[in-house]
Amino acid sequence: LVLRCSLCGSRAFTRVRYSRLSLCRRHYAEFFERRVKNTVERYRLFKNVKRLLVCVSGGKDSVAMLYALKPYAEKCNVELLGLTIDLGIGDYSKRSVEAAVEAFKNNDVEYLLVDLSAEYGFDLDTVAENVEKLRMPKGVCSYCGSVKRYIFNKAALDSECDAVATGHNLDDLLSFTLTSMASGQVDLLIKLQPKNRGVDRLVTRIRPLATLTNRETLLYVMSIGASYVDLECPYTPERSMQKTIVEKLSEIEHRYPGFKLALYKSLLRVLRKTEVKTGPLVHCEKCGMPSSTRICSFCRLKSLMTERIGEKTTETRVTARRV
Ligand SMILES: [Zn+2]
Ligand SMILES: [Zn+2]
Repeated sequence: LVLRCSLCGSRAFTRVRYSRLSLCRRHYAEFFERRVKNTVERYRLFKNVKRLLVCVSGGKDSVAMLYALKPYAEKCNVELLGLTIDLGIGDYSKRSVEAAVEAFKNNDVEYLLVDLSAEYGFDLDTVAENVEKLRMPKGVCSYCGSVKRYIFNKAALDSECDAVATGHNLDDLLSFTLTSMASGQVDLLIKLQPKNRGVDRLVTRIRPLATLTNRETLLYVMSIGASYVDLECPYTPERSMQKTIVEKLSEIEHRYPGFKLALYKSLLRVLRKTEVKTGPLVHCEKCGMPSSTRICSFCRLKSLMTERIGEKTTETRVTARRV
């Protein structure tokens, strides 16, 4: 038995269970793009946006976001500017940046490439090395997240973009929210939204893939034949609460198609009725960026890391002289 596309009768590529549709590659891609467009419209993601910074890591999600968003942004007169960061995680970063650049070129999108090491004097490999050595309070992924958020925001300000788009999907948002709630960080619930309006020098954040799952996003990049990096970052822990949550939610989704989206929409409704307190925002004394502390977390990390790199080169020089 060959499954046929419900729309055109050619060989089906996949079945969208909650819509009871079998779709060929082309019709699946259209289905996905329409879902992204509906998300942008329903949550008014393009409201007051003339120029949008699209952050692409080279992974499947951000690549999918760029391809799905480009034609629609054009129609809405929203100019796209790409951003990719070389975090300095060995071969993984090299291949990620290549995939991102390829996606920008294929979509005819101008882009910025920020080399963390060249621009700020440290890379993620150095952070990872020192997280253990110095017994730093957070994990590598947490510092990496803060580095990325900082650079996204700074690049958006510098290039006069009105908003920053990231490729977080439904699984990311649900698992992040549930992990935050499990650790009592109710304030973080606000990041569940497809859009966080900017304040002060914090640029508006939008998440156009907020209603699409990991699987749907993967199928989309496959359906259009876009290349992406399917490596996992070497610093991602093998097991984490967030990964476990994604696995369990996917088991439920498999048995009850549409479960994730229904849960997401309900959480958004709860959030709308909740008053989430955010701390007062000050400006970092070193870089002037918005911060909740006197010196922002990025500047603190940067000075700690560059100090460590400085010590290392001195050590090497001493040994060399001794020889
Ligand atoms: Zn079809
Ligand atoms: Zn700072």
